[in-house]
Amino acid sequence: MKLHEYQAKSLLARYGVPMLPGLPATNAADAVEAAKTLGGEMWVVKAQIHAGGRGKGRFKEDVSAEEIAKASRGEDAAGKGGVRLARSLDDVAAHTTAMLGKTLVTKQTGVEGKQVNTIYVAAACDIAKEFYLAITLDRSNNRIVFMVSAEGGMDIEDVAHHRPEAIVRVHIDSAVGVGAWQGRAMAAHLGIKDAKQQANAVKFFQAIYKAYMELDCAMLEINPLVLTADGSLYALDAKMDIDGNAEYRHPDIQAMRDLSEEDATEIEASEIGISFIKLDGEIGCLVNGAGLAMATMDIIQFSGGSPANFLDVGGGANQKQVEAAFRIITKDPNVKGILVNIFGGIMKCDVIAQGVIGAVKEVGLTVPLVVRLAGTNADLGKKILAESGLNVIPASNLGEAALKIVAAVKGA
Ligand code: GDP
Ligand code: MG
Repeated sequence: MKLHEYQAKSLLARYGVPMLPGLPATNAADAVEAAKTLGGEMWVVKAQIHAGGRGKGRFKEDVSAEEIAKASRGEDAAGKGGVRLARSLDDVAAHTTAMLGKTLVTKQTGVEGKQVNTIYVAAACDIAKEFYLAITLDRSNNRIVFMVSAEGGMDIEDVAHHRPEAIVRVHIDSAVGVGAWQGRAMAAHLGIKDAKQQANAVKFFQAIYKAYMELDCAMLEINPLVLTADGSLYALDAKMDIDGNAEYRHPDIQAMRDLSEEDATEIEASEIGISFIKLDGEIGCLVNGAGLAMATMDIIQFSGGSPANFLDVGGGANQKQVEAAFRIITKDPNVKGILVNIFGGIMKCDVIAQGVIGAVKEVGLTVPLVVRLAGTNADLGKKILAESGLNVIPASNLGEAALKIVAAVKGA
């Protein structure tokens, strides 16, 4: 589960990660109030969306298609982006109005962009250096890994691509935590030599590690981590992704979920316990088991089609879930054909057949439907479908099923 910058920062504050104060707002008057509360003479107004690269983004409503294409490639925005400096309260109000309700396109959103519903007003600072810091799980080493680079800021993707050696990795033994020597080594890599600043950097890394572990993060990225003109370190941006499997341990974080950032159909599916991911092809798939779903998508591609979704009803779905899954698939206007591919184990094929019939009775069927059933109660399932009077194209194996649905879609 992804969090907004302002939410991530509110969590990091509990761990003593040094940050400049900031407040979220959803209208210009509140943004100005926020700036007054924060005090000072300079603020940064930041669009809150679940994507990075905001600084170099552009708003769809304001610029040409050509500019939008540039934004999606991460080319500089020249003051038109989703992170803007405000030198007066009028600036704060103007930047807020310029962002709220608009669609921000960045390198990470794709050309569709994401709507800005909240902005964050933060105290600004004088940046001397921008560093990159991220912490995540390195699966190949079974260790937590810190990634740091002296070349932080908005071009970190380019650094990673062209000069990966500029990003240093430090693995942490979770039985020990971040050793002071490791913190000092990372600080040294960032070019922080002053003893006091180094000690602060070590504390910073340790606080980040503690937050990462206790909040069950899947990923935590601070980019930029800045050193100011007066030698202080601050987390200026925060990107946090919470491990979905551990969400239940954090009701306070669950309450931060922003459903407007998520696909409506994916939310509906997750509520009934189906894993559904929307894709951009034309063949809707209803499959049981993630491995079988992957194989089904591959063979659809191999047969010349493309999947409209990944939908796994799981090992033991009931008729209601199958009906819901079918409804979700048929709702997608891009779906030109449906492939049901079930290997009955614990899941019984007759349950699938009943679910399909139930759903079709309810929502109708306007596209070709190919069904391949194998395993437990397959014969019964096939019989139920055959006697239902539905226009179902049966298939006896996966290869045949894929060819039949691709042919049906192409013919239609
Ligand atoms: P992102 O583009 O979505 O990653 O958003 P960031 O929060 O990282 O902001 C982008 C850039 O804006 C940063 O790399 C900084 O250069 C700049 N920026 C952000 N906050 C401040 C600030 O308080 N003061 C100054 N001078 N620049 C800032
Ligand atoms: Mg950033």
